[in-house]
Amino acid sequence: MPPFLEPDHPELGARARAWAEKNLAPGRDDGAEVEKTAARLVAELGRAGWLAYVAPGEFGGAREKISVRDWCVLREELAFAWALADAMFAVQALAHRQRLAAMSRAFERAITLPISYHAERGSGRVVRIMLAGTDAQKRRLLPPLARGEAIAAFAMTEPKAGSDVAGIQTRAVRRGGEYRIDGMKSFVSNAGLAGSYVVFASTEPEKKSKGLSAFLVRGDNRGLVVKEKIRLLSPHPIAVVAFEECVVPESDLLGREGDGIKIAFAAFDALRPTVGAAAVGMARRALAEALGYSRERKQFDRALAEFQGIQFKLADMATELEASRLLVYQAAWNYDRGADGKKSASMAKLFATEAAQRIVDQALQIHGGAGLISGTAVARLYDDVRALRIYEGTSEIQKLVIARELLKA
Ligand SMILES: Cc1cc2nc3c(=O)[nH]c(=O)nc-3n(C[C@H](O)[C@H](O)[C@H](O)COP(=O)(O)OP(=O)(O)OC[C@H]3O[C@@H](n4cnc5c(N)ncnc54)[C@H](O)[C@@H]3O)c2cc1C
Repeated sequence: MPPFLEPDHPELGARARAWAEKNLAPGRDDGAEVEKTAARLVAELGRAGWLAYVAPGEFGGAREKISVRDWCVLREELAFAWALADAMFAVQALAHRQRLAAMSRAFERAITLPISYHAERGSGRVVRIMLAGTDAQKRRLLPPLARGEAIAAFAMTEPKAGSDVAGIQTRAVRRGGEYRIDGMKSFVSNAGLAGSYVVFASTEPEKKSKGLSAFLVRGDNRGLVVKEKIRLLSPHPIAVVAFEECVVPESDLLGREGDGIKIAFAAFDALRPTVGAAAVGMARRALAEALGYSRERKQFDRALAEFQGIQFKLADMATELEASRLLVYQAAWNYDRGADGKKSASMAKLFATEAAQRIVDQALQIHGGAGLISGTAVARLYDDVRALRIYEGTSEIQKLVIARELLKA
């Protein structure tokens, strides 16, 4: 058990591991099937009670308060078993209570940063509802998400605005008691499946990122049009979404006008360690596969595991995995205890996702040609692990955050 955990976390992890072993069997999920599989996974995660960890007790959650360490424990186990199951959990898991103090700290920083730092961005979805939603919005949206009966999406990235959210061109114009949203969003996870979308649009373009606002848009809104599906290296439900004269009532503005960047930024300290935890899960699986194969496979009349060259690889993999785990759970602990965890969250995400990529690569190398056979565990991990270095802020963006925190001191 890593330090930084509570006494009941090993039991939570063991239960999740046993459930995942019994219930999660990754298939090919190519083509149209991934959306169906994703929806089925959300329902199963809900029925099994894992999604109850995404919301606080008053909104149908398992515990009185949300814990980022719970999410890390669960993401690690789900990612060990099946990346898609982890991704579907993560989408729902972003509904949590955020401390208002942390929110205003993040906002203070956000509004005083140069534009290049507005490159911090990510894919947190329902967390933004918890951050800025009214009680009525939370009561309407969170309990079904925590039961796996509703799916959420988050639409920020645009064809011309990725890391730099100041480039967002989607506009929201207020008329009477409504807003009209027009624009195009790329890379929207759960597009077409979601019952609610958190959409970022500019209400005051001249103010760039400070003019962004966040809106709740229902999945059945006529102005929300799911365009082409995007097929990623690893199966994932994701598509381009257009907003065409999409009208929402002013009651579906999250927070106030201009709060968008605050809502987007304030979630990172919580979400980034959980991406690191998914990386730890995948790396742990890769190491387990490599250990098993190197014991079984014989060359030159000896098991691969008897060669020092292979042993060195295994030792490096295990060491990087342990270091990742410590950074991840330290960052999650920092968040849970209310410490300023921006730097540790970025370090955890950066190190764990980069290390997982190296660990998976070495596991594949140890498998030789067998590691390239499509559908095998290591070949799947090789494809699955790649996205972790991109979403919730790329590795380069994490370095900018870490450097900024260092230079600020
Ligand atoms: C699996 C997956 C799911 C996703 N889900 C969602 C979703 O649900 N909703 C959503 O809105 N988005 C989603 N995204 C999009 C994701 O958030 C973006 O891909 C990410 O923010 C990077 O933006 P970009 O792809 O436009 O890359 P760009 O910002 O164009 O960056 C390209 C490269 O340049 C580097 N770079 C950019 N700026 C700098 C800088 N200042 N200094 C140094 N290097 C820099 C980047 O690190 C990267 O290597 C998802 C992405 C993936 C992979």
